[in-house]
Amino acid sequence: MEQKESYPKSAQAFAEAKSFLPGGVNSPVRAFGDVDVGPLFIAAAKGSKIYDIDGNEYIDYVGSWGPMILGHAHPKVIEVIQAAVKKGTSFGAPTLAETALAERIVNAFDSIEKIRLLSSGTEAVMTAIRLARGYTKKDLIIKMAGCYHGHSDSMLVAAGSGLAETATASSAGVPKSIAELTVVIPYNDIDAAEDALLKHKGKIAAVLVEPVAANMGVVPPAEGYLKALRNLCDAEETLLIFDEVITGFRIAYGGAQELFGVKADITCLGKIIGGGLPLAALGARSDIMDMLAPAGPVYQAGTLSGNPIATAAANATLDILTKGDCYNKLKAKSVMLGAGLEDAAEDAGVAVTINRVGSIMSCFFTDRPVRNFADVQSTDIKQFKRFFAEMLKQGIYLAPSAYEAMFISLAHTKQDIEKTIKAAQKAFRKITN
Ligand SMILES: *Cc1c(COP(=O)(O)O)cnc(C)c1O
Repeated sequence: MEQKESYPKSAQAFAEAKSFLPGGVNSPVRAFGDVDVGPLFIAAAKGSKIYDIDGNEYIDYVGSWGPMILGHAHPKVIEVIQAAVKKGTSFGAPTLAETALAERIVNAFDSIEKIRLLSSGTEAVMTAIRLARGYTKKDLIIKMAGCYHGHSDSMLVAAGSGLAETATASSAGVPKSIAELTVVIPYNDIDAAEDALLKHKGKIAAVLVEPVAANMGVVPPAEGYLKALRNLCDAEETLLIFDEVITGFRIAYGGAQELFGVKADITCLGKIIGGGLPLAALGARSDIMDMLAPAGPVYQAGTLSGNPIATAAANATLDILTKGDCYNKLKAKSVMLGAGLEDAAEDAGVAVTINRVGSIMSCFFTDRPVRNFADVQSTDIKQFKRFFAEMLKQGIYLAPSAYEAMFISLAHTKQDIEKTIKAAQKAFRKITN
């Protein structure tokens, strides 16, 4: 398909959408606010490709922000969705497929004995926090700067003024008294975690972390970091919550816990487990999970929780991921892309740091290692913006923000990756002059 360098229909559609939707979108990052190109309106997607309403074709590295690990419109997933739709779209009553999905998730994670299904990652984290508070009878939560856990009140916070101080709201509408129940510390800094637990001794219900940070670009855990968090939590009788909404079934079938050999007390899952439909889960040992209503006193509910269409897509997706050496294939594609990007940047004389774990990756414009949010903030955002625009022109759809990861799917072919590397060679050269 011929590549155009402008997007007149998308531009028009965005202008019209702004009349009816705040900022023209239903989720902020879709507005392309961090780059100099307007958002593309999408007509369809298939495999590794996504198509805009101007008729342009792109190789897609956004993958709906993580879920599309099989590629778009996977025939098996479409088939089970169609079959499920014909049987009714929602019952508000238990189904066999929910137990089957629960069993799959329990089998994937050593730390999980029971799960609850819900509809979004935000809900999973919000419920995990309530559950941790209910279980420990403590109120404070520690989170790491630059980690994203959805948009519940207590997670929309930034670090307070001093080290290990309670947080301040990072969104209007979040009461100060709620923000103050969260303590924000730097990612990958075990001393900061120790200090915070000491300063708020006996009050921390949970330490919450993305075991591989993937919402400030991809930032892997430092050697021993997750294990050290585990030990600190055990010593303080604090729960360790892994937000594996991105990493679960992505960097390994059993997520970061399988890859790094550290068990969480509560695990949050989302994105991939919905197979592209709204579905998320939290899971833990039975003694923790049985605190949830109706078994226990911690309330949580959802009209569309365990929705039959989403559950069907989830079961099919996880089923496919258990077969055919998927994770080695994903890794091989990602290694090839990462190495290609690194070489292309070097040839063009552009300093980049590639962070990659499994099939998630970031290309940071910096000559230094990127280990936490402050490092990410010191990267060259101007270079990123120009790189993004040059790649888009060549039919490569990257996340429109330096703070978002690249997602590689099983549908990406060797040819796709070669084409992407070629485009990057050109883009890196362009941004140097
Ligand atoms: C996307 C994401 C969430 C929020 O999930 P939604 O389904 O968008 O509510 C939470 N945690 C992490 C790590 C995420 O990447």
